[in-house]
Amino acid sequence: MALPTWNTGAVAALIAASAIARAATPGPLPPPADRALAREIFKELVETRTTHDVGTSVAARAITQRLLAAGFAAKDVVFVAPEGHPSKGNAVVRYRGHGEGKPVLFLGHLDVVEAKREDWSVDPFKLTEKDGWFYGRGAIDMKDGDAALLESLLRLKREGFVPQRDVIAAFTADEEAGGDANGPAFLIAKHRDLIDAGLVVNLDGGGGAYRNGQRAYLEVGTSEKTYVTFTLETTSPGGHGSLPGPDNAIYRLAHGLAGIEALKFPVMLTATTRASFQRLAELEPGSQSADMRAVAANPPDLVAAERLSRSVRLNAQLRTTCVATLMTGGHAENALPQRARATIQCRMIPGDTAEHVRATLVSALSDPRIKVTLDAPPIVSPESPPTSQILEKAAKVVHSMWPGVPLVPTMATGFSDDRQTRNAGMPSYDLSGIWIDADENRAHGRDERVGQREFDESVEYTYRLVKEMSQ
Ligand SMILES: [Zn+2]
Repeated sequence: MALPTWNTGAVAALIAASAIARAATPGPLPPPADRALAREIFKELVETRTTHDVGTSVAARAITQRLLAAGFAAKDVVFVAPEGHPSKGNAVVRYRGHGEGKPVLFLGHLDVVEAKREDWSVDPFKLTEKDGWFYGRGAIDMKDGDAALLESLLRLKREGFVPQRDVIAAFTADEEAGGDANGPAFLIAKHRDLIDAGLVVNLDGGGGAYRNGQRAYLEVGTSEKTYVTFTLETTSPGGHGSLPGPDNAIYRLAHGLAGIEALKFPVMLTATTRASFQRLAELEPGSQSADMRAVAANPPDLVAAERLSRSVRLNAQLRTTCVATLMTGGHAENALPQRARATIQCRMIPGDTAEHVRATLVSALSDPRIKVTLDAPPIVSPESPPTSQILEKAAKVVHSMWPGVPLVPTMATGFSDDRQTRNAGMPSYDLSGIWIDADENRAHGRDERVGQREFDESVEYTYRLVKEMSQ
């Protein structure tokens, strides 16, 4: 799950004060039988452990069983796991339409982050209902979305709905950190025909933010930063610790790192961040909103950008960032160092390149004796343009549920499976319909939870979304 982009800091305060924030009037619910079915599926998924050590195959098979029982043809319901990773299964279903246009692919990951019973107030692998909440690992990331998606497909099938284009849903393995068999990457590499699509909708990001109990805005994820890591290394002759000379790898690296600390990448706006700043500026007049509007202009106002950059979150929206995360050096307490090494972790704005970032690091280090190497080629994640077509479709569904809610296109500073599909040339959008408090993010943490009402509404929203996106 992508961390909410605008949830804390100055922008949140700005939205808190917003005169146009909407009262959290309840949205429509699915019919009682569908509401009950969605909750049943949700419970089954939460109670089927899918941490990395267990894998996703049991959950994926349970999903295929439900699809087959609902009348989907056997050839359209596929269970597939990578060779050598039988526990990392994926379930893929094709809901056949009239064949007009390329399919739309809905993505949901099945794996969850580990959770320990002793860290939680309830059993993380039981779905617990308490005070209007569902508690359990995956409650918000993202078995809620998986359950809503699966139930929507079963409901549409029962209702005899025929989409214009094929709808594909992939319930996949290993999105969370530490996985070794990422489902979308595997499907793209080995079974592209199963999931090839003209449009991807990922329910792992986006979603609504409450502020002071009001519906403040709903994020539509249209891009993510690209993750790339570099190693800095420098060597010196070494020698006895009693005879230090001027050439010392540790000092040299430290001086270089000071250059990286001071480094500020140029301001780089994308269609998404420009639209984001414009939209947020509309939410409330004030000095920060004037700066946002100025930054969104073409060319951007760089003085305004520097003022906004004082916020860590806004700074990350405005530019590529690099930061030292690991450092080692020397080999013995009483010896001069022969080697010093540091890891520089960068998050690139879509459109920036590893070559450009590397060259920028080299110049910030201003010491050719410090070697800069790229750890691994990045999985490039180009922006999926926030076109009026996609935003209007999303708004149509969102406003049928929660009238008047502002939609904000966002760039996540972390990454999700979108990078796999975007890298494969499929435009991908995060369109979760779950509402959470802007200050709450328990994904990956203890006592992960989702509101019961919010879950039920998201089931109805997802049903409408599948219908709309298949047109
Ligand atoms: Zn997730």
